[in-house]
Amino acid sequence: MKKLGFGLMRLPLINTDDPKSIDQDQVNLMTDYFLERGFTYFDTAYPYHQGMSEIAARRALTELHPRDSFVLADKMPTWMVTGTEDYQRFFIEQLERCGVEYFDYYLLHTLGEQLYADSVKYGGFKFLKTLKDQGKIRHIGFSYHDRAELLDRILTEQPEVDFVQLQLNYIDWDNESIESRKCCEVAVKHRKPVIVMEPVKGGSLAQVPEEAERLLKEYAPQSSAASWAVRFAASPDNVLTVLSGMSSLEQMEDNAGYMDNFVPLNYEEEEIIGKVTDIINTGIAIPCTACKYCVDTCPQDISIPEYFSLYNNQHRFRLLPLHMNYYRNLTVKHGKASDCIGCRACESHCPQHIAIADKMKDVTAVFDRA
Ligand code: SF4
Ligand code: SF4
Repeated sequence: MKKLGFGLMRLPLINTDDPKSIDQDQVNLMTDYFLERGFTYFDTAYPYHQGMSEIAARRALTELHPRDSFVLADKMPTWMVTGTEDYQRFFIEQLERCGVEYFDYYLLHTLGEQLYADSVKYGGFKFLKTLKDQGKIRHIGFSYHDRAELLDRILTEQPEVDFVQLQLNYIDWDNESIESRKCCEVAVKHRKPVIVMEPVKGGSLAQVPEEAERLLKEYAPQSSAASWAVRFAASPDNVLTVLSGMSSLEQMEDNAGYMDNFVPLNYEEEEIIGKVTDIINTGIAIPCTACKYCVDTCPQDISIPEYFSLYNNQHRFRLLPLHMNYYRNLTVKHGKASDCIGCRACESHCPQHIAIADKMKDVTAVFDRA
């Protein structure tokens, strides 16, 4: 399979204020072009475009192309499941919306600490396995937004899983709270292929600071900043495909151009990406180095470096729903930022001399009062 998938979550719209107003003619054109170029993977989900993404998939794919000419992935909305019977109800609705008899790839959507516990409680993994045995799902997996440690536990406890979908991009690769690299390594350890989401970090790596842009253009004048991000994400051997939420034919043509005969980043390109990462990271709001000297001192068990990392990410990229996901998962086991009592026990341990208690108020304002 080619290493580029069409993420059906940022489809072109007729009215930009209405996420349901998908420009179906444009989507059909993009879909035809994608298939003609030999790409086959399409990724939708129950909530995308407020339920209209799955229907757009039916109109662009199922109604116009033979079922075996494309690979369709869909996802169970785990946060809407309140009992075992919900799995069947949602799954049947999704088959109907997409107009298919089976899904090639099917995922429990957006697992973290809490949603994993719920999925085990309600029998989500068993449900997927049963459908796979019945031929209604070809490959079972889950998309994931939490720490590498938990991913290791899930893959140990659920060995029947065929693949995982991870957030992987060069800015999150060594990020303290998102742990893209470590998650990727866990997948390798369990021999699970990875489907990548957010390779361009919600589109934000398509426009990098001027200094970084200059470095990229000096090396490859014709390549877009987005192409560097997608190629970085596709480079690990265990990556099956990289999802790009394309919104126009122009974006698709750009992506298809360099992913047609994909070449992983070479050493020199990796070095450049390292420099670009450093440039982007210099604009950080809180200069926490994630040394963790402070964490054991906190009576509220606040996950200080992880919260600062998410705050920095949010400050830089303004992707609140994405970062809020990670924040909520962390607060399942740790105190929230708003639980800080201002004792400043942590501050004398901080080699960066960060006024942690004051900064925790900033974190609170973003993540606990959102
Ligand atoms: S000031 Fe806040 S973050 Fe620091 S130790 Fe006290 S409660 Fe924890
Ligand atoms: S001690 Fe300071 S630099 Fe180290 S993790 Fe804590 S806040 Fe960050």
